[in-house]
Amino acid sequence: MSTPTKIYLDESEMPTHWYNVVADLPEPPPPPLHPGTHQPATGEDFAALFPKALIEQEMSAERYIDIPGEVLDVYRLWRPSPLFRAHRLEKLLDTPARIYYKYEGVSPAGSHKPNTAVPQVWYNAQEGIRKLTTETGAGQWGSSLAFACAQFGLECEVWQVAASFRAKPYRRTMMEIWGGAVHPSPSGLTEFGKQLLAQDPNHPGSLGIAISEAVGEAVEDPTVRYALGSVLNHVLLHQTIIGEEALLQLAKVGETPDVLVGCTGGGSNFGGLAFPFLREKLAGNMNPTIRCVEPAACPTLTKGEYRYDFGDTAGLTPLMKMHTLGASFIPEPIHAGGLRYHGMAPLVSHIYELGLVEAISIPQTECFEGALQFARTEGIVPAPEPTHAIAAAVREAMACKESGEEKVILTALCGHGHLDLAAYETFLSGKMVDLDLPDSAIQEAMQNVPQIEG
Ligand SMILES: *Cc1c(COP(=O)(O)O)cnc(C)c1O
Repeated sequence: MSTPTKIYLDESEMPTHWYNVVADLPEPPPPPLHPGTHQPATGEDFAALFPKALIEQEMSAERYIDIPGEVLDVYRLWRPSPLFRAHRLEKLLDTPARIYYKYEGVSPAGSHKPNTAVPQVWYNAQEGIRKLTTETGAGQWGSSLAFACAQFGLECEVWQVAASFRAKPYRRTMMEIWGGAVHPSPSGLTEFGKQLLAQDPNHPGSLGIAISEAVGEAVEDPTVRYALGSVLNHVLLHQTIIGEEALLQLAKVGETPDVLVGCTGGGSNFGGLAFPFLREKLAGNMNPTIRCVEPAACPTLTKGEYRYDFGDTAGLTPLMKMHTLGASFIPEPIHAGGLRYHGMAPLVSHIYELGLVEAISIPQTECFEGALQFARTEGIVPAPEPTHAIAAAVREAMACKESGEEKVILTALCGHGHLDLAAYETFLSGKMVDLDLPDSAIQEAMQNVPQIEG
């Protein structure tokens, strides 16, 4: 009970490396494949999209990778981020569990995404790239990349999923404040976008479509590259600063987690928190249960198939072996826009297949009920995505109340919800419904997934 409410690290204690979980896995993850030949992709196949240094990280099996000094300098604007003990939520729930949350909403963009935006832009800047293109769903990634581009003087062009472009005008303003140019997706600027708009002028868009548009623009110009905010190995690598800090912070108060829960959209905040703890678990230093939490309306791990699929809707990216609902799947417009992606990080999918982590899905009304309990006790208004992690932590804490177990629960509160208040308004006025995903919708999208051995 004597744990302080906030557990801080000094700037001087901030980790100076990222952790690559590939080095410690019992089996290496299956490689990405060239979309045409279906042979393992080489660095060349990614060269039009990403700078060399990031392609090396994508394929690396080195355990630790040094964080460049200029990246650490920008990280220091908000890192190390605080770890909180949720004393007041515990009291409300009347649970013997001890709940800790690592808060990433202290970053300029309000989420964990700048942890990877900053190094991605820095490596591109080192290789003389002029402009980055990207997609954004809820607007968190686009604003993080715009912020990072402003730090290193690159241009930034963002395709924002149309439904979110209309629903979240202030995210667009944030991107523009940091100098980004923003288009709704599908847009009239790309051939693929034009085709989709011809079919439906009010097309809601999807992350897969927006990725196709941003990738299509980047590959046409050698001074332009593309940046992805989740899913890929190098993105998860950069996010491990979260877990490395959390390990040090928990050690300061003499705790080790029994249960770690994290929300999974593409898998980056989850991987970022969980992988350093997985390393400790594999080394026999602790034994936490590690659990992914996804929306019931986009249940990639719990209902998707583990097979090779494209990362985007038009089929421009290399094929990745991952849990997928099918690249043509358009998820229901749930409020957690950042979790509306048809695939899951190949690394998270692989460790799930290996049985090293569990997965559950939770419907959105339960998530927002948890979010209100959290906001009314801990004060912070969570982004809609981490409400899934909070709801899972609440479930676990209530199970402890039943059993009397004093478990230590750790989660990432990966962003605040200050620009997502419309979702709360919908919930508070009783209009939020749970969107169930019929198996037929999954089967339909799976029919378009390429048939590939392995
Ligand atoms: C983007 C985003 C997510 C989903 O992406 P992951 O890669 O799964 O972390 C979750 N929460 C917030 C706040 C986000 O911005």
